[in-house]
Amino acid sequence: MQNYKTVWANCLKIIKDNLGPENIQVFRTWFEPIVPIQLENNVLTIRVPSQFFYEWLEEHFIDLLKRTIRLQLGPNGMLKYSILMDTSIDETPITTDLPSSGRQATVNRPKSVPLRMAPEDGREIANPFIIPGIQKLKINSQLNGNYTLENFVEGSCNSLARSAGYAVAKNPGRTSFNPLLLHGGVGLGKTHLAHAIGIKTKELHPDMTVLYVTSEQFLQQYVEAVKNKNTNDFIHFYQIIDFLILDDIQFWANKGIHTQEAFFHIFNHLHQNNCQIIITSDKAPAELGTLEPRLLSRLKWGLAADLGTPDVETRKAILHQKLANDGIEMPEDVIDYIAYNINTNVRELEGALVSLIAQSSLNHRQITIDLAKQMIDKFVKSNTREITIDYIQKVVCDYFNLPVESIQSSTRKREIVQARQLTMYFAKKLTTSSLAIIGLHCGNKDHATVLHACKTVANLNETDKQFHSWVDDIEKKLRD
Ligand code: ADP
Ligand code: MG
Repeated sequence: MQNYKTVWANCLKIIKDNLGPENIQVFRTWFEPIVPIQLENNVLTIRVPSQFFYEWLEEHFIDLLKRTIRLQLGPNGMLKYSILMDTSIDETPITTDLPSSGRQATVNRPKSVPLRMAPEDGREIANPFIIPGIQKLKINSQLNGNYTLENFVEGSCNSLARSAGYAVAKNPGRTSFNPLLLHGGVGLGKTHLAHAIGIKTKELHPDMTVLYVTSEQFLQQYVEAVKNKNTNDFIHFYQIIDFLILDDIQFWANKGIHTQEAFFHIFNHLHQNNCQIIITSDKAPAELGTLEPRLLSRLKWGLAADLGTPDVETRKAILHQKLANDGIEMPEDVIDYIAYNINTNVRELEGALVSLIAQSSLNHRQITIDLAKQMIDKFVKSNTREITIDYIQKVVCDYFNLPVESIQSSTRKREIVQARQLTMYFAKKLTTSSLAIIGLHCGNKDHATVLHACKTVANLNETDKQFHSWVDDIEKKLRD
């Protein structure tokens, strides 16, 4: 008779191994919070923190879970979910059959919880400090209507943050993502997504009081309140918000101890009352060490979702989306060129696009690849343009008229093998990537294969005239 705890512990080991060390964060986010509950007739029941959590597991890890459970419990092993609702649990569980996966979900249905009514009488105030009769105020949410969820392009770099954001907007304060911490480097969409979640929340729950505030604004307001001796009003004002978005909390690092303390009290009050809190930061929680420790520990209560650098397909999608939004047409090769060459962040991507459009309309020039090259050279010089492996693949494949995917495939067709080897050769020569990374980009090859490719190309380059001219041509294109 196997013990459910042991079974699950074994499952966790397998899952962790399968995800690999590079996905340790994924493991911590999605598997560590799971609690095994029982094992009966080959059915292992696990408890997950929310409906969203369950859906995410089903969408992203179903195969892994299936394989793992079968390894542990044999071919008839099944998995059953028990979903913990965050508040007001109705004790009668409902069981849903999931024919697709042959598993079941037990859902503890929440009692219907009436939304908290926001104070309202039609008055708008921009300055949150004029608060006579707090009960009756309508607050300017400071949300920017241009930053919607609909025009926030999804890619693997942001899909966790975006889905968690959507879950929060549907069910503010009632998911386990409270607070929801969005973190990621500059220009990767934190502010956009935070506004978008706020806007979606307003759409779905018009009665809720949503407020967006930057950490800098908050600090200034607090300092002002101290000066005017009305810090109580200040704190009270924030405590009546249903949904608070605080942008760029890293701004408080090393300063504003009292501001942080005030926020700590506000945070506690809101959290206790199931009000939603979203915080953004350009650092991961672990790197926010200079923040007040108590506040820092609160940030770890919810979900920290990372916004990464978009891959080239996402960059293209973002460019298309911006162009469509502005009703501007641009040749596809120009879009490709920008997407391949600007790989730092979305803000720079947008900046390049806007400069190009401005250049062309000011000088009445057509938007061509040449204009794009001139402009991007100027634009990117400041952070020294870096040739990427993706770009090398693209140039090599275009040169031989091959689809870019062919490099990734395992085919041994001569022309493709050659293109793959050339890509590896140039990646070694023109980027700082390791042999292992280059191999990973070129169809999952190991470093020995990459090394071999580099030698082969170098040899042919010396001995074969035709080959030599290819290498020359491609290198010119790459350095252009
Ligand atoms: P951050 O706050 O992380 O520094 P922003 O939210 O200000 O970044 O984003 C910078 C710019 O990039 C904004 O104009 C935003 O609209 C745009 N942007 C970022 N991510 C996306 C995305 N996934 N889809 C569309 N636009 C995006
Ligand atoms: Mg921002």
